[in-house]
Amino acid sequence: MRRETFSQISNLKISNLFFLLAINMNIKDINFKGKKALVRVDFNVPLDADFNITDDTRIQAALPTLRHILDNGGSAIVMSHLGRPQKKLNEDGSINTRKFTLRHVAGYLPNVLNCIVKFADDAIGEETEKYVAELKPGEVLLLENTRFYKGEKKGNSEFAKQLAKFGDIYINDAFGTAHRAHASTTTVANYFAPENRAFGLLMENEIKNATYALNSEERPITAITGGAKVSDKLLLLESLLDRVDNLIIGGGMAYTFAKAQGGSIGNSLCEEDKLDLALNLLKTAKEKNVNIYLPTDNKIADGFSNDANNQFASTSNIPDGWMGLDIGPESIDTFREVLLNSKTILWNGPMGVFEFENFASGTKAIANAVADATAKGAFSLVGGGDSVAAVKQMGLGDKVSFVSTGGGAMLEFLEGKELPGIAAIQGNVA
Ligand code: AMP
Repeated sequence: MRRETFSQISNLKISNLFFLLAINMNIKDINFKGKKALVRVDFNVPLDADFNITDDTRIQAALPTLRHILDNGGSAIVMSHLGRPQKKLNEDGSINTRKFTLRHVAGYLPNVLNCIVKFADDAIGEETEKYVAELKPGEVLLLENTRFYKGEKKGNSEFAKQLAKFGDIYINDAFGTAHRAHASTTTVANYFAPENRAFGLLMENEIKNATYALNSEERPITAITGGAKVSDKLLLLESLLDRVDNLIIGGGMAYTFAKAQGGSIGNSLCEEDKLDLALNLLKTAKEKNVNIYLPTDNKIADGFSNDANNQFASTSNIPDGWMGLDIGPESIDTFREVLLNSKTILWNGPMGVFEFENFASGTKAIANAVADATAKGAFSLVGGGDSVAAVKQMGLGDKVSFVSTGGGAMLEFLEGKELPGIAAIQGNVA
């Protein structure tokens, strides 16, 4: 078994990797002694009906940054969102503070951080200012859900300015929301001098690993894309064609490609308005010398359910009334061989409806192949889609090089977009 995060990779070519981070202040170079750090984290954790945290992965992911600040003599004013309170208002139009309060997390934090954690019912305002003023080194003040305030999602300057008042230093460690130009993730950075703002350790690690994967010179580079729709992954596919040697396309999106090439796909998922686009992508791939691998066989079902009747069929020959819900054994063998011969692997999206046990074999086999390729020395990054859930579900999280914590953010990063939360730390925001 081999697990390498970027920081452990020493012998791989990393020529143009550091440009992204070199121009920023590194959290390790900041002197936190006696300073108040305003830290944006992603504490958007799942809760059960009694508001107990059912999965603390996101909290655990933010701990190294918080610990670093506290251990170096600083205090932390912590901001996060939780859920979508503005979308799920009470019947009278008010915020459902009971459900979406970050108090649910405040009670949990001392267990994992081992320090005093205070909670501010209001993310801004005089009362909160007082709490901030009283905060001692080594202590944490968690602010109420930033999304209780309309200004948050609008990236409102006034709201950001009020938050900014609380910190001498701004740290953004919320990679999961780095693709949002919100007040606490983006606008707030404008109120800190370049030497007083930095990425947190989690964010830095995400950026380093994704940048490495995208700029790797360790070839062949193979990307695996899957999931439901071509339209969701269009920009990703286009961006990958400029970077990879092999592109494996599985999942529901593969059937649009199959139909575009003249196959009979029965009732499989298909975006009729994307057929030309699919053909164009295949043409571009040829021009760019990228090998495209589409499933040649499939596990098909006579309904969209785990218990539907199933059988195998070639991609070009799926009968009416049947739909492809997973890749078949022949495709698995082909994809596996490509992966085992790869030196860099990027994976986004499952090979089938892996939520149904009867149609999870393709995704499982690919997860195993990625893990085996990693054991052979490949660098593998899983991110930006349900493939992360699949890898974790199979307990293979520590058998691939890097598993991203940011779904949409990682997808946009791999698409080559500039993420507002990253740009803000770099000073690229107007
Ligand atoms: P994404 O979030 O883009 O990675 O898409 C993941 C979703 O795609 C999962 O919920 C899968 O069930 C779904 N999916 C994968 N393959 C298929 C398929 N052949 N037909 C329908 N849905 C699929």
